Amino acid sequence: MEHEKKKTAAVVLAAGQGKRMQSTVAKQFLLLDGEPVICHSLRAFEESEVDVVVLVTGEDEIDYCRKEIVEKYGFKKVIDVVAGGKERYHSVYEGLHALEKVISEDGIVLIHDGARPMVTGEIIVRTIEAAKKHGACVAAMPVKDTIKVADPEQFAARTLDRSTLWQIQTPQTFHYGLVYGAYRKLLSDEVYQKGITDDAMVVETMCSGKVRLVEGSYENIKVTTPDDMIIAESFLKHRKRIF
Ligand code: C5P
Repeated sequence: MEHEKKKTAAVVLAAGQGKRMQSTVAKQFLLLDGEPVICHSLRAFEESEVDVVVLVTGEDEIDYCRKEIVEKYGFKKVIDVVAGGKERYHSVYEGLHALEKVISEDGIVLIHDGARPMVTGEIIVRTIEAAKKHGACVAAMPVKDTIKVADPEQFAARTLDRSTLWQIQTPQTFHYGLVYGAYRKLLSDEVYQKGITDDAMVVETMCSGKVRLVEGSYENIKVTTPDDMIIAESFLKHRKRIF
C-alpha cells in the first residue's frame, strides 16, 4: 500500500572494475583508513535521514558484499544488494528498479558513487532539500582550474568561461518517478545511451528536466587513481583531528 512506502532511498554504486586504479581489487573495496572504501560511503547514508539503501555491485561480489560489508559492519538500512551492469547507467537502472516496490513515486532517491567515501551528512541533507524543491539536483563545486577544449592534435582550441563551470559530484538526487522514468527511456534504445556519464544528463536529455547545482565539497572526491587514495586518507585523518 502506498502509505507504507518509503520516502527517501539511496542507490549506492559499487559495480565496475575501476581499471584506472591499477589494482586487482576494485577501487570501491580497497582499504581506506582500515575499512573498504564502500563502507565509508555506506556509513554516511546509514547515519542520515535516508530510510533505505540499495547497494549495487558486480554479480561476483554480491555474496562478499552481503557478508563482508553489510553484515560485518552492520548496515541496517541496506535492504538489498543487487547486480549492476556493464556501464554505470546499467547499474543505476538496476538500483532504481530494485526500489520499485519500496519507495513512493514522489519519494526522493539519492544516487551515489560508492567510490566517493568523503560524502557527508550535510551534503546528503542539502541535496534532499533541493530535490524536494526542484525535482532534480546534483552536488557540485565551482572549478578551480582553467578548463580548455583540445583539438584532435592536442592543441588548445578554446578556453571556457570559468565562472560558469562546475565539477559534478554525487549524490545526484531526484524525485523517484522522474529519474526512474528517465532511466527507463534511456534503456529502451541504445541511441540514447551514447556519452552518458552521469544521472543528471539522463534527466536533462530524456525528459528535459532542470537540474539544480547544490554545494558539495572539494573533499567529496571520487577515488579513481592511486593518488586519490592518498588524498582521501589525508582528508580522513584531518577530519578525525577536528572531531
Ligand atoms: O568508473 P567510474 O569512476 O565512473 O565509477 C563511478 C561509480 O560508479 C563507482 O562507485 C563504481 O563502482 C560505479 N559503477 C557501477 N557500475 C559500472 C561502472 C561504475 O556501479 N558499470
